[in-house]
Amino acid sequence: MDLKNSNYKVITNEGAKCGFCNKNLKPIGLDYLYANYDKNMIEYERCNCEKAIQFWKEFDLEQEEKQRQEKNRKIINNIYKDNYMKKRLQKYNFENFSDTYKEKNVINQLIKFTDLCIKSEMKNGLIISGNIGYEKTYLAACIANKMIENNKIVLMEKGGSIIDKIKESFNKEGLSEIEIIELYSNVDMLIIDDFGNENLSKWALEKLYKIISNRYDNELPIVITTRYNKEQLIEQLSTEKDTEIAEEIVKVLNEMCYGIAITEERKTKEKVSISDQTIC
Ligand SMILES: [Zn+2]
Repeated sequence: MDLKNSNYKVITNEGAKCGFCNKNLKPIGLDYLYANYDKNMIEYERCNCEKAIQFWKEFDLEQEEKQRQEKNRKIINNIYKDNYMKKRLQKYNFENFSDTYKEKNVINQLIKFTDLCIKSEMKNGLIISGNIGYEKTYLAACIANKMIENNKIVLMEKGGSIIDKIKESFNKEGLSEIEIIELYSNVDMLIIDDFGNENLSKWALEKLYKIISNRYDNELPIVITTRYNKEQLIEQLSTEKDTEIAEEIVKVLNEMCYGIAITEERKTKEKVSISDQTIC
């Protein structure tokens, strides 16, 4: 029998026994007193043997994770009119890329990174850098699509678009800025595309900083695509009067991210190099 589905108990005529150690389990609640009550519907106490404790620990974590995912999906459905990945990006996957990239190392590193993200074992992020036209966005989309295929929640957008969602929450009933920030801080993967290429206010940068550093604290990965190196990124993000928040953002990204530099255009199909050093 499928013990997992029966929550590790075996129902017998006398009641229920622990599926691990055979101990009799007491029913809980009053429902079992009703004569016609279906025996399978009765809830029983949790056994306290070692194996059962381990089982329930995993069971509870799984339930918690499910609830978290459900809550996030609900908010996502509320703030995104369409699918939360742009249609254009939904068709990219590592399999098509493997054919066109000569340097398999980049693809292999990205696949490895993605697999660890799927298993929730990746605590670091990734900065994919390279000039315009170097397919950074598509590589990031491959990560996103692979994770989505595996039932993970991924949000991929530009920094400015995240800020728009926060601003929209001011006029939307039932949603708050805090909830939006929590969402971006807690989804399985956040991809900020073409980072540094928009004029963002100090207020907006502070929100992004909050989201990024929350993910760092929560040990959740992030992927940044950018055409800039560390110094350029600080310069791009800095506002006229303020460089401090830009420096803070780049600093925390540096601490949490690996770097991959895409150095050739995909069209030429020649060189793609990878550095295992953080680029920030
Ligand atoms: Zn037991």
